[in-house]
Amino acid sequence: MSRFDAFLSAQTDDALDTLAEFDREAALAAGIRPNHVNEWGLVHETYLGPTKWTAQQRRAVGLARASRMSIDQLAVIEKKLQSVKDPREKWELRFALLGVGGGYETVRRQANDAVRKEETAPRKQVRFSKSRKGRRTMTVTGEERDIADLENVLLRGVDTARPVSPQLLENFLRIMRGGGAGVPFAAPRPMVLVPMPAWTKILRGEGDDIVLGLTDATTMTGAEFLQQCAGAELELAAVHPQEGPVNLYRGERLANTKQRDLARVSAPVCPVPGCRHSADACEIHHITAWRHGGETNWDNLAPLCRYHNRVNDDDPGRAARGRIERVRGTPVWRSPRGYTVVNSYHRFGAVHSLFGDGAVESVPP
Ligand SMILES: [Zn+2]
Repeated sequence: MSRFDAFLSAQTDDALDTLAEFDREAALAAGIRPNHVNEWGLVHETYLGPTKWTAQQRRAVGLARASRMSIDQLAVIEKKLQSVKDPREKWELRFALLGVGGGYETVRRQANDAVRKEETAPRKQVRFSKSRKGRRTMTVTGEERDIADLENVLLRGVDTARPVSPQLLENFLRIMRGGGAGVPFAAPRPMVLVPMPAWTKILRGEGDDIVLGLTDATTMTGAEFLQQCAGAELELAAVHPQEGPVNLYRGERLANTKQRDLARVSAPVCPVPGCRHSADACEIHHITAWRHGGETNWDNLAPLCRYHNRVNDDDPGRAARGRIERVRGTPVWRSPRGYTVVNSYHRFGAVHSLFGDGAVESVPP
């Protein structure tokens, strides 16, 4: 190995070993550019420094070693992640970014994208202004589905020949004062995933401690489920212990409703690590592409958000952005380096509900 090769592998394959005994003062005294020293410090602190997130740190170290990313790539991820406040979210984004293949620019761009998405989501809140001439303003920022439901209700019976906004207020006040029946949920309704053993417990009225996942990435207890299911507002999806969601066949290009439903049950959120798009907001993706002979069967479908559907490596030979595969009844993301990584944002997929974590974690190619 030439000295230059050794120099390179010290910064890539052996990146974390190289930084194990990182010493800021020594590096500065040796004439290393301060920006560089700061970046090394950032990587050292994340992967090798003291933390209360030991399990996450261990996982990140494993992913970083497997990825063989350079110190510069690890550093650019950390620099971009600095604007993410929630530590749990930060780890999830880090896991996802460590699976990104390609050169420095690719990693930098993806880190940028991931963080920008965080920054632009407005905070969910209700705000009230001070009074002006006896009037006040209220602004509500919430999930788009909730706000869309409200807008739909307020628009009912509006006379478009007159200014619309004042009529929306009239309708709003009528609902607020109890003149309406409240704001109904719009179709499609989210489905509830119920593993069969839990179902009997719930029916016996012992469901208070059982947490069920919904395909809109929310949860409810078994007890709440019983109460709300009486009105038949919610759809129930029973899950078979080995087969996953129930079987269905046939080869049309576009999935039918039942098939889409089963795909949503297998993964209630987009399976790409760090992605928080619920299955209900996802497109239905062919795991083996239609043009490669993939059929429109429940076991070849997965919910994937618009963005990840577009960047998925449909051709298994290509390994740029990773691809979705099906592992033990569950759609899982496989990184360009060949590691499966579970999206832990909402762990209520059918198989997770029944078998718990680890069923599909880090399965080799
Ligand atoms: Zn996604």
